[in-house]
Amino acid sequence: MVGRKANAWAARDATGHLSPYSFHLRDTGIEDVVLRVMYCGIDHTDLHQIRGELTSNTKYPLVPGHEVVGEVVELGSEVKKFRVGDIVGVGGIVGSCGECSLCNSNLEQYCSHRILPYNAVYKDGTPTHGGFSSNMVVHQRFAVKIPEKLAPEQAAPLLCAGVTAYSPLKQWMGCNENVKGGIMGLGGVGHLGVKIAKAMGHHVTVISSSDKKRKEAMEDLNADAFLVSTDKDEMRTAANSLDYILDTIPVFHSLQSYLSLLKTQGKLILVGAPQQPLHIQAGDMILGKKTITGSFIGSMEEVQELLDFWAGKGMTTMIELVKMSYVNNAFERMEKNDVRYRFVLDVASSNLE
Ligand code: NAP
Ligand code: ZN
Repeated sequence: MVGRKANAWAARDATGHLSPYSFHLRDTGIEDVVLRVMYCGIDHTDLHQIRGELTSNTKYPLVPGHEVVGEVVELGSEVKKFRVGDIVGVGGIVGSCGECSLCNSNLEQYCSHRILPYNAVYKDGTPTHGGFSSNMVVHQRFAVKIPEKLAPEQAAPLLCAGVTAYSPLKQWMGCNENVKGGIMGLGGVGHLGVKIAKAMGHHVTVISSSDKKRKEAMEDLNADAFLVSTDKDEMRTAANSLDYILDTIPVFHSLQSYLSLLKTQGKLILVGAPQQPLHIQAGDMILGKKTITGSFIGSMEEVQELLDFWAGKGMTTMIELVKMSYVNNAFERMEKNDVRYRFVLDVASSNLE
């Protein structure tokens, strides 16, 4: 069966400018579901990717989008997990080997054969395309059910940004009222990090590059404290106060002043993906027995767990809903740090032709 035609927006080269583009979806395999895309979040990784910043051989035309919510419109013959009409989500990976120890222990995002939703090649040799598209085809293992209590546009940012904060905080910190955490960079990942950390009972300090978000962080996001990273006095006063920092900053930054915020045995968790190496001074690590680690999205199990956690607590994401024709402006504004806090594309009502 020949895959159906999809109408999308794609970047054609490393300028990253997006324009309309049509392609054919891969054939629907027996365990695949075909979605009519409803909403798709815009993550900073999409910006890194359309500009070719993450790999040396970016494949254009590139259809970004990996916070995808859609309605199931077609099912492969062996799909048991979903029915036509279900509202499902697709996040940061769309395939893995399915056989290795990582795949067998809910760590499939670290499988060396993981397949990204775009700028990658699927098992049948076709290029993968993300959610800035009228339709998407995905193996049932890499789709999750959106809880009925959750509005689909609200769910989109949880599929990547949300689970990127949830997975390491759950694994290393858990629900614990004695934990003091810092969320560095109040953007898409950061604002969900604050909400998740608060819901886990942590005392949460937002560490931001300016004073602009202080009021909203304290009042709208209910943070417990706010630090401006360029304010030396504020940073000095907060030294040795945090058990962890979740670092979401997408550009180069020196780690030295942030490491000083950590208590002895504190943990710096890198999730932001700047291109340049981040330098560290060995003494800053040794004398405080500190750890620097990284984390990549979350497992499919954790994505489902987060959606249920979120819906169960009646939590909300903070999004700006825009049409596909606005996508280039949205990227521009994201780069200028002018979004509160996540753009979500209203794909279904964007009349993609
Ligand atoms: P975003 O919405 O653009 O937020 C980034 C935040 O970092 C900004 O709101 C800003 O917060 C701060 N920032 C400091 N300097 C900046 C600068 N020069 N330009 C832009 N922002 C600056 O980005 P995001 O979607 O949250 O993604 C953040 C990073 O995480 C990206 O590198 C992305 O690729 C990565 N990511 C990784 C994973 C993973 O699995 N590890 C998953 C998703 C995203 P303040 O105003 O508070 O300073
Ligand atoms: Zn594997």
